[in-house]
Amino acid sequence: AMASVGFVPATAAALPYQDPSLPVATRVADLLPRMTLDEKLGQMTQAERAAVSNADITNFRLGSLLSGGGSAPSPNNATSWANMYDNFQNAALATPLGIPMVYGVDAVHGHNNVIGATIFPHNIGLGATRDQALVQSIGRAVAEEVSGTGIDWDFAPCLCVARNDRWGRTYESFGEKPELPTQMASIITGLQGSALNGPASVMATAKHYVGDGGTTNGTDQGNTQLTEAELRAIHLPPFQEAVRRNVGSVMISYSSWNGVKLHGQQFLITTVLKGELGFSGFVVSDWNGIDQIDGAAGFTATEVRTAVNAGIDMVMVPNDWRNFISLLRTEVQAGRVTMARIDDANRRILTKKFELGLFERPLTDRTYTSTVGNAAHRSLARQAVQKSQVLLKNAGNVLPLATANNRIFVAGKSADNIGNQSGGWTVSWQGGSGNVTPGTSILQGIRNTVAASTVVTYNQSGAGIDSSYRAAIAVVGETPYAEGAGDRPGAMGLDTADLNTINTLRASGVPVIVVLVSGRPLDIASQLPNWNALMAAWLPGTEGQGVADVLFNVAAPTGKLPMTWMSSASQQPINDGDGKAPLFAYGFGLSYGTTQPPPSAFSQIQAESYTTQSGTQLETTTDTGGGQDVGHIAPGDNLAYNLAFGSTSPATVVTRIASGATVSGTIQYRLDSTTGPIIASVPVSSTGGWQNWISATTTLSGSATGDHLVYLTFTGTGGDFVNIN
Ligand code: BGC
Repeated sequence: AMASVGFVPATAAALPYQDPSLPVATRVADLLPRMTLDEKLGQMTQAERAAVSNADITNFRLGSLLSGGGSAPSPNNATSWANMYDNFQNAALATPLGIPMVYGVDAVHGHNNVIGATIFPHNIGLGATRDQALVQSIGRAVAEEVSGTGIDWDFAPCLCVARNDRWGRTYESFGEKPELPTQMASIITGLQGSALNGPASVMATAKHYVGDGGTTNGTDQGNTQLTEAELRAIHLPPFQEAVRRNVGSVMISYSSWNGVKLHGQQFLITTVLKGELGFSGFVVSDWNGIDQIDGAAGFTATEVRTAVNAGIDMVMVPNDWRNFISLLRTEVQAGRVTMARIDDANRRILTKKFELGLFERPLTDRTYTSTVGNAAHRSLARQAVQKSQVLLKNAGNVLPLATANNRIFVAGKSADNIGNQSGGWTVSWQGGSGNVTPGTSILQGIRNTVAASTVVTYNQSGAGIDSSYRAAIAVVGETPYAEGAGDRPGAMGLDTADLNTINTLRASGVPVIVVLVSGRPLDIASQLPNWNALMAAWLPGTEGQGVADVLFNVAAPTGKLPMTWMSSASQQPINDGDGKAPLFAYGFGLSYGTTQPPPSAFSQIQAESYTTQSGTQLETTTDTGGGQDVGHIAPGDNLAYNLAFGSTSPATVVTRIASGATVSGTIQYRLDSTTGPIIASVPVSSTGGWQNWISATTTLSGSATGDHLVYLTFTGTGGDFVNIN
């Protein structure tokens, strides 16, 4: 993470722990016995940057600092961050053992505390991309920006499985089922690079362990009431994957499991995470999280002891760090926290500091400072925005918009508002409306895209629209919030101003396209019939151009819902497979080739257009290889996908099954209707084994051309992936 230039150790490898040629474990084993108790307590303490002086860092041997949401040096730019970091690091090095500190920030959608950084879509939008490789590249870009300001450690990704849209952190979730947070844990590999001491590597944090997204009523920091089996099945898999990807740290959740705060859960932290999952990094508490263990105000000795004995290695005590150190010292001296536990915590923390290369290169690698907000990262963010858009309705194919000879009216509070489109955790903790950081608003993106022959008129409330326009775009939704401030225990619809804006547009008779800027699905079912098109833009970040790209088909819509979309707020919690009739199913998303969503009993598995090629084979537009896994199919599963037949008919499809289990049965195809005649019937059977691909080729009968929905049903036994070429 650190510079290869600029810092030369005073004496090369005077002591074994200072010798970079020795294995990390050997260096840790050499260093630990040289440390006093106070030095060990300091390593376990993480303080807020604004709550310490350089002398505090040196005198108390503080092991770590953080910037709480929005806590930044002045002026807030990349260079002053790097200067701040180096100044603090030099204070940490000015100690007898010269142990470097490690500095953490919440770079949860880009290096979002820094004005001018690239702001990527929040996780919910990344989940909609279903693109694991793209998300990994985003991790790399974020790591470069973070490294360029000296910072070693990112409190990301949030691997929460958000189970109730009322929760104010729903947008920090990649999706409501464990599969998306698990896949998108690829961002860890992007952040950490191939090795923690590699160029621009930043230590990642899997958070918040565990069950943060499962609280009753979606209350932030609330209680997750689940059996152990349910907790393991829903909330644990992303953390297993994070450990598999060698995540450096894990942050504990503020929430409780069955009434007991996670910060005191020795079974989940020590037995499950460190033992069973084999997590070898260190565990950090959340901001003042240990103070919630007993509910009383202020840290108590009991809370300190309970947290450390539960397995928390580093305690985030932003302001009250002196009190924490003295309470922990007393607990150790009284034998209520063992030296073995203190040594284990130190071993874990020091191991990561050595692995990060901090002992060799403790200061900022300035070669990355200029990457903050650079063109390459903004272009990657724009691509992510494109792929995160989910087209939910497109009546009469009002989208895509024509770039030339058009008259477009743009309205809505989030049409020209970088702050709204970026959401919470942008420059400040809660985020804020307006020009909080440089970027391209959605309105600006639209203006950038149209030809000179097109008129674009903007009025936030919709005033001035008339029937001379061909399209009205309303960019509406939620304004920024973070954590509990975003909990919505009551109504989950649009606010009155948004509804008025849309009504003003509708009164003109011009088709209305709603672009929803929000951190979650909203309760819009009763208004939807009045809207011609609906696109979920989530919280796209600074590159609003990506939203415009999809409106004009510069990029086709390919995003799929990472959350089930409620048909009324009273359905919360609503999740895939729980039997409630959603407005749009998990995984649903239209392409421009399709006008109708499939009925809710059918999950839409791919929205790419499948077009005939060479008169024989169907291929996806995005997939030039051998086809894509389009989903699970098992008896009783109904799947639907879009098919653009092109001009060649009849068309041939190849159905391939990779089955881990025994499969035997028939896949039936119907066009456009779930009850219409079967156009193809493909027998499939396999005795199992993932490498055992079996193929069944069939010709779709009839002379269909153009766009169709194809419905698949499977009758038989067993089942796994079906792959259609
Ligand atoms: C949040 C964490 C965050 C921490 C540090 C807490 O309020 O729950 O997600 O990492 O603050 O800023």
